[in-house]
Amino acid sequence: MADVQMADAETFAFQAEINQLLSLIINTFYSNKEIFLRELISNSSDALDKIRYESLTDKSKLDAQPELFIRIVPDKDNKTLSIIDSGVGMTKADLVNNLGTIARSGTKEFMEALQAGADVSMIGQFGVGFYSAYLVAEKVIVTTKHNDDEQYVWESQAGGSFTVTRDVSGEQLGRGTKITLFLKEDQLEYLEERRIKDLVKKHSEFISYPIYLWTEKTTEKEISDDEEDEPKKEEEGDVEEVDEEKETKPKKKKIKEVSHEWQLINKQKPIWLRKPEEITKDEYASFYKSLTNDWEEHLAVKHFSVEGQLEFKAILFVPKRAPFDLFDSRKKLNNIKLYVRRVFIMDNCEELIPEYLGFIKGVVDSDDLPLNISREMLQQNKILKVIRKNLVKKCIEMFNEIAENKEDYNKFYEAFSKNLKLGIHEDSQNRAKLADLLRFYSTKSGDEMTSLKDYVTRMKEGQKDIYYITGESKKAVENSPFLERLKKKGYEVLFMVDAIDEYAVGQLKEYDGKKLVSATKEGLKLDDETEEEKKKKEEKKKSFENLCKTIKDILGDKVEKVVVSDRIVDSPCCLVTGEYGWTANMERIMKAQALRDNSMGAYMSSKKTMEINPDNGIMEELRKRAEADKNDKSVKDLVMLLFETALLTSGFSLDDPNTFAARIHRMLKLGLSIDEEENEGGDDADMPALEEDGAEESKMEEVD
Ligand code: ADP
Ligand code: MG
Repeated sequence: MADVQMADAETFAFQAEINQLLSLIINTFYSNKEIFLRELISNSSDALDKIRYESLTDKSKLDAQPELFIRIVPDKDNKTLSIIDSGVGMTKADLVNNLGTIARSGTKEFMEALQAGADVSMIGQFGVGFYSAYLVAEKVIVTTKHNDDEQYVWESQAGGSFTVTRDVSGEQLGRGTKITLFLKEDQLEYLEERRIKDLVKKHSEFISYPIYLWTEKTTEKEISDDEEDEPKKEEEGDVEEVDEEKETKPKKKKIKEVSHEWQLINKQKPIWLRKPEEITKDEYASFYKSLTNDWEEHLAVKHFSVEGQLEFKAILFVPKRAPFDLFDSRKKLNNIKLYVRRVFIMDNCEELIPEYLGFIKGVVDSDDLPLNISREMLQQNKILKVIRKNLVKKCIEMFNEIAENKEDYNKFYEAFSKNLKLGIHEDSQNRAKLADLLRFYSTKSGDEMTSLKDYVTRMKEGQKDIYYITGESKKAVENSPFLERLKKKGYEVLFMVDAIDEYAVGQLKEYDGKKLVSATKEGLKLDDETEEEKKKKEEKKKSFENLCKTIKDILGDKVEKVVVSDRIVDSPCCLVTGEYGWTANMERIMKAQALRDNSMGAYMSSKKTMEINPDNGIMEELRKRAEADKNDKSVKDLVMLLFETALLTSGFSLDDPNTFAARIHRMLKLGLSIDEEENEGGDDADMPALEEDGAEESKMEEVD
C-alpha cells in the first residue's frame, strides 16, 4: 500500500468479544479451515442480493457497475487470495460497525459453542462468518465501495485493532467489495485452482451469481520465425475462447505462452426449478447448507410447486435442531427467501409464513408477484396470502411425514414442540391438525410420549373427557393427589409440563369431539356410580358439612370455599382452581413473569377451592374434634397445616414458608412430647429427626 494512504489511517479497537473470538480463531487448532471461502462467498452473495433488490426500484443503483458477479483471484507471487464482488459494498460507517466495533449477539454464543467442542464450520450460523478469514490469513484487507460513499480500505492483522483509510491507491472497484487474504505460510493450498474449484463445488454450488476464477494457462505454441518478435499479449478480463489453431506450416518454433482467463466455476440453475425426482438427497443437503449456513443436514424437506391460477415453487426444510436464538424477538422472524421469477427479493418477509413456523427454512419463487414489490404492498397482497396458506399446509404435511419415523419425530419434537404449541394458540384454522402432532407423557405412556389420537383409543368405556394435569415437571405431577381418583378408575391423565402447554390447552379446549378437562380445576365430575353408592356418598358429604364450614372459617379469604371432594382417594385434601381462573401451574408461570399486571394476578389467582377427602383418617379425626369443640386450638393448627401442605402438593408456592416451618416444628415437638416452655429459645436444629418423615429428616440433616 502506498504511504500516502497510510497518512490518514484511522485506528479502531476491536470490540472486546470480537477480539476474544479472533484470538480463539487464530490460536486454536482447527483442521476444517476451508470453510472460510464459503463464508466469504456467502457474504458476497448477500451483498449482491442487496444491490439487486435496491435496483428493482431504482435502476441507476447499478450504474457504477452493471454486472453482478463474484470473482476469485489467487496470486501465487504475493501469496494472496482475493474475493471480489460487485455487491452493495460498505460505507465507511458500515466498515467500522460491521467489521469490528459492534458485536453480534452470536459472538459469545459461538465462542461458548466452540469451547464446548463445536466445529468452527458453525460460524456462519452465529453471524460472525467474516472472521473465519483469519483461519487462513495473517492479514486481511477489505477494499469496498458503496454507492453512497467513497472507496475505503479496512486492514487488520487481528491483534486488537484495525485501520480504516480512504482509498487513494487509484484502483477503482466501481461498486462492491474486494477481500484480500494474506495467506499464512502453511495455507498456500488455497492458491491452487483445483482446490478452489473443489471448494466452490462443495460449499457454494447454489450461489445464484456467477463465480469466476482467475485461471492461468500455459500453452506451448509454435510460431513461425517472423512472428517471434511480436509482444506477448494477455487479454485480462475477457472470457477467452480457446480455439486452438492447427496450422501446419514448416519452419516453426515452440514457445511457452502464459495466458489468463476468467473461468466460470458454478452452475446457477436454481435447484427449485428442477424436478424433485431428479434431485438427490445429497443435493438437497448441500443446498440446505448453503442456504442456512447450517453444518448439519436438514431433518426433512418438502419440494413442491403450485400451479393453476397462481404459480409458485418452493422448497421447505426442517432443521435438525433449533437455532440458539429461536425465540429471540430481536431476530428476524422467518427464514424463507422470497424470489420473484428467480430474482431474490427478500429474506424476512413476515407475511410469508406465520411466526410459529419461523424455524422453517427454504425458498419460495413466485411467478405472479410483481418484481418491484415493496414491503408495504406485501402486507395486503392477496397472492402472498394464498402462498402463505399453502406453505402452512405443506409444513404440516411435512411434520406428519417426519412423524412416520419415531426417532426423527422425537428429535423434531424436542426441538420444535414449543412452536407447534404456539401454533395451536395462534392458528385457529390449523388447530385441529396441529393437535394431532402433539405428544405428552401420561399416567400410562411409560417412557414414550403419546399422541392425543392414541390416548383416545385407550379411553375407558364410559370415559367422555380427556384428562390432563399441568405442572412444573413430570416428577412434580405424576404423584399429585389430583390424579388419585382418575387413576383408580383407570382413566389416563396427560402430563402437560411445558409452560406453554397451559396456553395451548386453553385454546385447544377439545380434541376429536372430546373435552380436555383439567384434573386440578373445579367441576371435575366422575359420575358413574350406582344409585346406592351415590346415596352413601351424599350421606357422607352431609356429615362433613359442618367441618367444611369450620375449615372455611379458619382459612377465611385464603380459599373461596371448602367442599367434599370427588377426585381424591388417599390424600386428606387438595386445592383446586376455578374452571376459568389460573391453575397453580399458571400462577407459577405468571409469578415468574416480571411484567405481569398485579391486579390481574390477584383476580385470577384468588379462586382456590379446598376439596377434602371424607375417607381420609385425618379428616375423620378432625371432624370428630371439631364437633366436640369448635374452638379447639389443635383443630385450627391442623387446618392451617393441611392448607399449607395442600398448597405444596397442588403445585402452588408458599407465601410464607417460615410460618409453615414453625407450625411443623411445633407439631414435631408435640409428637416428641417436648414441653414448649422448657425449650423456649432453644434451637430447632438440636431436635432429632422424625423417623417416618423422610423430607423433614433430610432437611434437618442439612442443618446439622
Ligand atoms: P453475516 O453474514 O451473518 O451478517 P458476517 O460476519 O459474515 O456475518 O458479516 C458481517 C457483516 O459484514 C455483514 O452483515 C455485512 O454487513 C458485512 N459484509 C461482510 N462481507 C461483505 C461484502 N462482501 N459486501 C458487503 N458487506 C459485507
Ligand atoms: Mg456471513
